[in-house]
Amino acid sequence: MGSGESGTGAALLAASKGYAVWVSEAGEIGAANRDHLLAAGIPFEEGGHTLDRMRDAEVVIKSPGIPDRAPIVEALKSLGIPVIGEIEFAYRHLPEGAKIIGITGSNGKTTTTLLTYHLLLEAGVDVALGGNVGRSFAALLLERPYAWYVLELSSFQLDGIHTFRSDIGMLLNVSPDHLDRYDYQMDLYVASKFRVVLNMGTSGVCLFNGGDPVLQSFIQAGDWQHSWEAIGDDVSDGEDLHAGGATFRLRNPMLQGRHNRMNALFAIRAAQILGLSRDVIQRGLETFVNHPHRLEPIGTIDGISFINDSKATNTDAVGYALDAMKAPVVWIVGGQDKGNDYMPLLPLVREKVKAIICMGIDNRPILEAFGALGKPMEEVRSAAAAVEVAYRMASSGDVVLLSPACASFDLFKNYLDRGEQFRFAVKELAKRSGQV
Ligand code: ADP
Repeated sequence: MGSGESGTGAALLAASKGYAVWVSEAGEIGAANRDHLLAAGIPFEEGGHTLDRMRDAEVVIKSPGIPDRAPIVEALKSLGIPVIGEIEFAYRHLPEGAKIIGITGSNGKTTTTLLTYHLLLEAGVDVALGGNVGRSFAALLLERPYAWYVLELSSFQLDGIHTFRSDIGMLLNVSPDHLDRYDYQMDLYVASKFRVVLNMGTSGVCLFNGGDPVLQSFIQAGDWQHSWEAIGDDVSDGEDLHAGGATFRLRNPMLQGRHNRMNALFAIRAAQILGLSRDVIQRGLETFVNHPHRLEPIGTIDGISFINDSKATNTDAVGYALDAMKAPVVWIVGGQDKGNDYMPLLPLVREKVKAIICMGIDNRPILEAFGALGKPMEEVRSAAAAVEVAYRMASSGDVVLLSPACASFDLFKNYLDRGEQFRFAVKELAKRSGQV
């Protein structure tokens, strides 16, 4: 059920394993995935899920986007048909001897997954990257067998596992997110994240953020056999990072800020557990390039640097971004508010931000939250206007930071579109001012 990256991956893997496969998509199947299914001779339906055609299924593999509460899922379960996720299905076909690094958290998953992968790859480890970033786990298994799989795992994906087991599990942090899928109960969401260490028992290593009180109390309250290792007791200052008895320098501009020091520590520890040397890991830290839209430096115009952090869609992520800024910030914030509590950001905004540009249809929550600080505030309705106004408000040496704390759907297709329009506007401005 579902024909996105994970659904199509699962269908192709299942077909290759000799299952009779049928795909059901409530909407429309994207062109590329449709071609893959047709080429593999896999039949499908679109525009709805027909229960009658699933009655004889041995197993249903459900997209993580479909809630467990969806009537079709409840109907399948009441018929006694097992409903699992693509991660679980792929795991059942894991090449012999292959191992898994499973990474979850509310923020930093992609960065940490990419960095862990990069450190291993640069060191010559036979490693694949996927899950919630890039290719599905199932698609990776179709490529060829790898020795290690580094997987980003969302809580929805973790909800669909049963026998899946990481060899190294990472719990980066938890802050409220997606609570609509967890009966608005934080405990249920946290429990879902902890499934990243499900079935590990005494084997492997479970890395968790030692400074995260929610993770700590969940671990303390449980009856675990797991080998827990706390990460990052001392990540506050300086360039040096200490891990596993070695010291590392973190000069890479893509890994600035306290949050990225934490992400780096997790990745370093995983690399060390695999036995990689300090120098090889250090080299990997220096050559790492993050995905766009995460504290992405875009360029400098008249001494003003522009940074795209469009992926910062909650206040927690913005807090880390502001914390990482060393120069006065012209902050572009706003979009579709998710009921944000901006109060925890006030001290950082007071200290780091010189002007605020609200980029959204309804900017009231932001105007109300920060108005009292007495900073210049302006409202805009497009990325181009935001860049123009920011350029006017900033002076040489300042940073213009797009770090919205909100969803993008009021003005943009998604966070990627928002970041790309911002990047485009900065490039246009650079051209106009002859500074390409
Ligand atoms: P995810 O995949 O969990 O959404 P990303 O690595 O894509 O995480 O980062 C998303 C946003 O969260 C970025 O804007 C980044 O600045 C912020 N961020 C990254 N790592 C962390 C962290 N460890 N703690 C808090 N925020 C983080």
